[in-house]
Amino acid sequence: MSDDKYSKYELVIGLEVHAQLSTKSKMYCGDSTEFGASPNTQVSPLSLGHPGTLPRVNKAAVAAAVKIGLAMDGEIREVNEFARKNYFYADLPKGYQITQDKTPICTNGFLKFEVNGEEKTVRIHRIHMEEDAGKSTHDLDPFFTLVDLNRAGVPLVEIVTEPDIRSSDEAYQYLTEVRKLVRFLEICDGNLEEGSMRCDANISIRKVGETILNTRVEVKNMNSIRNVKRAIEAEFIRQVDLVEEGGVVVQETRGFDANTGKTLGQRSKEFAHDYRYFPEPDLPPVVITDAYIQDVRANMPKLPKQLISEYVNHFGLPLYDATVITDDKDLAFYFNDLLKLTSNYKAASNWVLGPVKSFLNENGLEISQFVLKPQALADLIALIDSGKTNFSVASQKIFPEMIVAPAKSPLQIAEELNLLQNSDEGMIKELVAQVLSSMPAKVEEYKAGKKGLMGLFVGEVMKASKGKADPKVTNKLLNELLEN
Ligand code: ADP
Ligand code: MG
Repeated sequence: MSDDKYSKYELVIGLEVHAQLSTKSKMYCGDSTEFGASPNTQVSPLSLGHPGTLPRVNKAAVAAAVKIGLAMDGEIREVNEFARKNYFYADLPKGYQITQDKTPICTNGFLKFEVNGEEKTVRIHRIHMEEDAGKSTHDLDPFFTLVDLNRAGVPLVEIVTEPDIRSSDEAYQYLTEVRKLVRFLEICDGNLEEGSMRCDANISIRKVGETILNTRVEVKNMNSIRNVKRAIEAEFIRQVDLVEEGGVVVQETRGFDANTGKTLGQRSKEFAHDYRYFPEPDLPPVVITDAYIQDVRANMPKLPKQLISEYVNHFGLPLYDATVITDDKDLAFYFNDLLKLTSNYKAASNWVLGPVKSFLNENGLEISQFVLKPQALADLIALIDSGKTNFSVASQKIFPEMIVAPAKSPLQIAEELNLLQNSDEGMIKELVAQVLSSMPAKVEEYKAGKKGLMGLFVGEVMKASKGKADPKVTNKLLNELLEN
């Protein structure tokens, strides 16, 4: 009965993502953006908006915004104006933020992805450029709030969806896709934990079947994609409970407490229009031509959806392999290099998703820290394909040794460890014949239908060959001899 009340409602969610752009300098001045510098050392009078200083627009930030706009299939605006969004806050020394108001650089994009086996499309309402505020720390000093203005003026893009998201799973997947895109484009490191990607979730509920938009709550302060999901789930329960008890949802900003898993009211936001936006008088509009857009597009790397389609359609790989490989840009690019060096594409994917990934996971490494170059793996695949070794020997014995001695070729290692297998049919045939004649009773049983004995025969031949008989050839010859 009490569970039932939740199934009457559905979630309506719109997400606002702020992605900190990894440019060398700030959005409207040349101050460094390098992370980790001592507080307030990357702060010129421009960052502080002192009288007489004039902002100018960071070209690299514009290029980054165009890239993400194109990656989300949006329309790029030609004439981009900037606006002042006024509010007073300790970490906003100018007293206003320079942002885009009426003319966001991108509109009408969308992102398609899969959630629980179904395709989902989320429309992108707008993407605009702006600058970050400084950072206030409230818990370091017992009496004072500490302000670090190094971050003031760092470029951001804000990506705002339409209220198209219907569940916490969809929100989770949307954010995963956005993070993947900014990482592929190398415009942002996509780290929610460190705050370089931040998400505000606008959440409302309505009765299933309704199309109206009800009053929403905006939840902030989630430092992981998982916590965004948790916050949405908590907010759903809270709003349904409230409405079912006859209450009303009020428009407000709430924070998420990861320890309790609950959202907490912070400030009500009945009137959102108190920013007194006006055109930034010190910046001329940035004009983006078609030629510029083409140029940016030409310099974009292949994105996950393109790569997945190539892996599946051109290289004949399973969708699953293609999807997992493209989860990580560096892994995908490593794999692209490997594909150029082997024609056994499925083996390449098996190696990358199998032994390589396991090794990286077990050792807490990224593919960029992996000692073996794609060529070494290609050589190993070729060694198996030539019949000189097999996958299990290669993955259990040769591969670990290659990691220890990356200068040696797989062939050299196989020779040194005496691991080269024999695929000489004449020699193996003799061993097969010997083994079969040494166990006539088993052979009879096999012929009478006990096919499981094949494993025993293979094992015996292996033993007789000291592990060197090519298992494929062994199997083939055993089958031939047992048929007679
Ligand atoms: P604001 O400028 O006040 O933040 P916007 O209209 O730009 O408001 O909307 C911000 C975000 O809230 C967008 O992602 C939008 O999709 C989402 N949103 C708007 N209305 C609702 C609603 N009723 N429920 C959930 N999300 C909503
Ligand atoms: Mg908002």
